[in-house]
Amino acid sequence: MTSTMDDRSSDTTDLDAAVRAAHDRYRAAHPRSAEADDRARAVLPGGNTRSVLHFDPFPFRVAEAEGAQLIDIDGHHYVDFVGNYTAGLLGHSPETVKTAITAALDKGWTFGATHEVEINLAELVADRFESIDQVRFTNSGTEANLMAIGTAKHVTSRPGVVVFDRGYHGGVLSFGPDSAGPHSELNVPHDFRVGRFNDTVALDELITDDVACVLVEAVQGSGGCRPASQEFLEALRRRCDDVGAVLIFDEVMTSRLAPGGAQERFGVVPDMTTLGKYLGGGTTFGAFGGRRQFMVAFDASSGGTLTQAGTFNNNIISMSAAVATLTHELSPDRIIAVNELGDELRASLSRVLTEAGSPIYATGVGSMLCLHSPDDRLLELLFHALLADGLYIARRGFMALSMAITNDHVNQLVDAIERWTATV
Ligand SMILES: *Cc1c(COP(=O)(O)O)cnc(C)c1O
Repeated sequence: MTSTMDDRSSDTTDLDAAVRAAHDRYRAAHPRSAEADDRARAVLPGGNTRSVLHFDPFPFRVAEAEGAQLIDIDGHHYVDFVGNYTAGLLGHSPETVKTAITAALDKGWTFGATHEVEINLAELVADRFESIDQVRFTNSGTEANLMAIGTAKHVTSRPGVVVFDRGYHGGVLSFGPDSAGPHSELNVPHDFRVGRFNDTVALDELITDDVACVLVEAVQGSGGCRPASQEFLEALRRRCDDVGAVLIFDEVMTSRLAPGGAQERFGVVPDMTTLGKYLGGGTTFGAFGGRRQFMVAFDASSGGTLTQAGTFNNNIISMSAAVATLTHELSPDRIIAVNELGDELRASLSRVLTEAGSPIYATGVGSMLCLHSPDDRLLELLFHALLADGLYIARRGFMALSMAITNDHVNQLVDAIERWTATV
């Protein structure tokens, strides 16, 4: 195909004009959300308190949610393919979680004392993940990773923290293209060494004997749903053993990929694991755990000298919600089913996008999917076309299926994307 300068510039103008038109249509259809955005911007910088939720021209505001559905304050209904970036695995109205929280609230909720529910939860978590003998709870995945890194530095008495490009381990542990990498002012000031994800050959040079830990996702989630190769994970395991570094799997997202997490799916067992997002059944949650030899650092009766603070670490609402989630919602069958549905969706999307000759492509594993485009304006157009069809994916192309998503929903999304490809 030949393309003159004129063709390219008219393409550019067409796409820019199409994006403007999509924004105008969206604005006209969302007058109440527009008004709310004006109010929000006066008191919340950028109009929100979680930057990833913004999109242009302004995000719709949710009024309520049920099952797989979001309803905004303008009355529009959306099938929710964002699944709160994997935290919403159960969909919007898991009765078992609601019942557990309500029952907990009936007995009071800010004890400043220990209780039995945290034991129940720790037992369930230790049962489920091979690498976890003992666990401690936090309020977020970010905090879980901060604690795991600190534990590894303490146990090894070494400074180095190996992470990988595009790795996202929380707002202060972000090595993606959107932040300034390890030099972001918001990142915590550890001695980070940023390796290339899936570059097995470089590991010997990267993971040296002053490295305390390697923090990695078996499938990068926010980093674009990029799976590690089997070879890479096995090489990480070997190299960490060779130099005595602690291998930490950030399974905040990936633990949904198999009943025992990505460590089970890939058959590579880390020394420590961090958790969060969906495991709290939609409530504030994080956890870090691992081999007893590391976690004993928090056990003063066995000579441990670390203490873990956190007013809400064992808050009864999250603990009860997580216990209900693990007990009633996360059967192996259901976890396998949601991931199979994700694999089918990704295969269908790849098929319709390829057949249409679209430059957009899909990546991911199981229920974690991501669409990518070399021209971001195409994703912007697709995103708005889907919203207009009542389908909500993340603006950057990310999708996380919930257990409330059905075959019909998946077909709706595939059909909508197929129709859209014919318009651009
Ligand atoms: C979301 C996420 C975190 C951070 O969890 P928060 O609860 O948002 O702090 C850490 N690691 C990964 C892989 C995540 O996806």
